[in-house]
Amino acid sequence: MSGSNARSNAIQAITSYKSEPAPLNFAGARPTEIYGCNVFSDKVMKERLPRVVYRSLRETIERGRHLDPSLADIVASAMKDWAIEKGATHFTHVFYPLTGLSAEKHDSFLSPDGSGGVITEFSGKMLSQGESDASSFPSGGLRSTFEARGYTAWDVTSPAYLMEYTSGIVLCIPTAFLSWTGVALDRKTPLLRSNQALNRQASRILRLFDKKTDLPIVSFAGLEQEFFLIDRNFVFGRPDLLIAGRTLFGAKPAKGQEFEDQYYGVMPRRVLSCLSETELELYKLGIPVRTRHNEVAPSQYEIAPVFEAGNLAIDHNQLMMTVLRNVSKRHGLTCLLHEKPFLGINGSGKHLNYSIGNAEVGSLFDPGDTPHENAMFLVFLVAAIRGLHKYGGLLRATAAAASNDHRLGANEAPPAIMSMFLGDQLADVLEQIRIGKVHGSRGKRLMNVGVDTLPPLPADPGDRNRTSPFAFTGNRFEFRALGSSMPASATQAVLNTIMADSLDFAATRLERLTEGDPGKRNAAVHTLIQEIMEEHSAVIFNGDGYSEVWHQEAERRGLPNYRTTPEALMAYTSPDAIDLYGRYNVLSRTELKARQEIYIEQYCKTIRTEANLVIRMARTIVYPAGLRYQRELAGVCLDMCAINKELNRPDRQPDTALLDQVESLLAALRHAVDGLEAVLENGEYANSVQEAHHYRVEVLPRMEEVRALADNLETLTPEDLWPLPSYQEMLFIK
Ligand code: ADP
Ligand code: MG
Repeated sequence: MSGSNARSNAIQAITSYKSEPAPLNFAGARPTEIYGCNVFSDKVMKERLPRVVYRSLRETIERGRHLDPSLADIVASAMKDWAIEKGATHFTHVFYPLTGLSAEKHDSFLSPDGSGGVITEFSGKMLSQGESDASSFPSGGLRSTFEARGYTAWDVTSPAYLMEYTSGIVLCIPTAFLSWTGVALDRKTPLLRSNQALNRQASRILRLFDKKTDLPIVSFAGLEQEFFLIDRNFVFGRPDLLIAGRTLFGAKPAKGQEFEDQYYGVMPRRVLSCLSETELELYKLGIPVRTRHNEVAPSQYEIAPVFEAGNLAIDHNQLMMTVLRNVSKRHGLTCLLHEKPFLGINGSGKHLNYSIGNAEVGSLFDPGDTPHENAMFLVFLVAAIRGLHKYGGLLRATAAAASNDHRLGANEAPPAIMSMFLGDQLADVLEQIRIGKVHGSRGKRLMNVGVDTLPPLPADPGDRNRTSPFAFTGNRFEFRALGSSMPASATQAVLNTIMADSLDFAATRLERLTEGDPGKRNAAVHTLIQEIMEEHSAVIFNGDGYSEVWHQEAERRGLPNYRTTPEALMAYTSPDAIDLYGRYNVLSRTELKARQEIYIEQYCKTIRTEANLVIRMARTIVYPAGLRYQRELAGVCLDMCAINKELNRPDRQPDTALLDQVESLLAALRHAVDGLEAVLENGEYANSVQEAHHYRVEVLPRMEEVRALADNLETLTPEDLWPLPSYQEMLFIK
């Protein structure tokens, strides 16, 4: 479809838009009744399972006890009956391969009965484990093709649900995906493993503080999802959006986001309909969406559910992205989840709000009301400080992707330097404790751990520091470097693992210092905090993370700054990472190596595809448009010559300035495209790291060069000759 067609179709679609179906009316269908109706939830299980089976399953879900395999048949049969009553015809194990998407293969419930008919069948084995030809999923060399089988294993902690498609309903079972030798091939497995490590170490600290709980300690995640919604017609008119999910060309519009009139503004009618329907679908799936609002950039929005147990919240986030993509189509919109769809306009992120605790103890990052609670809180806090300082590079690596390189550190998202925002009061408390013993004579009264309560901390700090990648926000941390399209599982797994490591360290240290005498506990905590602050306080930074000063200061403090994906991904196989992940059985050396390999390959493939698109679009769309304009200008000049001749004005020459400008731009463009093609093709690399380096250093800058010339041409060319929908149209027609 050509640009002008896309343009008129989009305008047509918007002006004649009617909500379809009729506007959602929650008076008829109450959200409280709809909520979770498509989930094989605790309530459904309680109703439908024999009591002993239900109890046993709850034990597995809540406490991670091994599920008695003999019960699986009973659960499967109840699940099947429930699903079929609700109209399901198929079931699938949903898994999360390292592509970042989710994968599923549908199987019918029907089986031949041997006499020409069919029966429905769904056994415990079919529920618990599925076999999958894994050869088409990236394995980073873990599986050679002759051992192409992988299997999926039911994740009991994330409930099964029904996905409604226009053509039928499918029972979806969240699973982990492993090779037959037990090697993790997915994103869920390490997350589940890291939860176990976290629980084990956090429980030690709780024991030291005589804090009793019957439930395991888990990690929580609250994920804020940003995205763009633009008219779908524009996507068909732009191969870059269609294939790469971002624009590779496009001149800056006259108006961008500088008016700051979009954030929290009124939502356009069509967008609101789309988001209401998205929410309805999410309610059905038991996803507790709560807030929605306009974001900073034009046509950018955010929705956020209430936080849940990390594993579940992350599955829900994957589902939410799927639902957003599907529902937006029904409203004639496309949901762009890419981190940087438009140059010069803010990109999209995914904030991960992280805490640890459980329903009984609440958030262990919550200071609490008593000196005793405060002391335990401080242990968890300094554990986080130590973890971030020691393993910031690993956390940074989880936000590494070609798409996210366009926004990290670009004054719209935190820099790639991992630091922690604590707020002045907390930072001051820790500093007091740190200097307590040594310089006790300072004028200021020093805080005494276990005796004093913390000064009242702002529960929701008004001075929200948005420039910090890892900010303490009263009872949780907010990690802000993740990209909008990225699954949060790797980040959550790293946070769990570095917390497990630091809590392990803290528990061991406290056990030694107290020698089993609770009377020595406060002094021991004091010492622990001093030691950790002495060694790791360099990671705390309360200032402006966007500033150049901070970049220099961070370097002085020895904090790494991995600006690009290939650099950041090296962290996966550092000796520190291998040791850390190995100690807590989260990922083995082989698994880490494989992950690194896959992510580097993905980086290379992304840039290669985009570079090919740039070449193709420049040659077949941009350059021809320029030629047409050149011919038009040349025609004018010729006409002017003819007129001058006709009127016998030998001294008058036509003005060829614009023609010359277009001509030289076109020549430069052709040259730049040839140059890009040459560097793209002349690559011989010993390994994928070298290849990635080549793309970053040679290919990306040449893509930008082509783009700059093309964008310049766009600003000169008449609108009716320019075939690509413009930024102005895509961002402001809504
Ligand atoms: P903001 O935009 O101000 O950061 P939002 O309301 O958009 O706030 O999102 C905050 C997110 O943090 C929500 O998902 C919320 O449920 C989540 N959250 C709140 N408390 C916790 C907690 N203790 N642990 C994890 N996430 C939390
Ligand atoms: Mg928010």
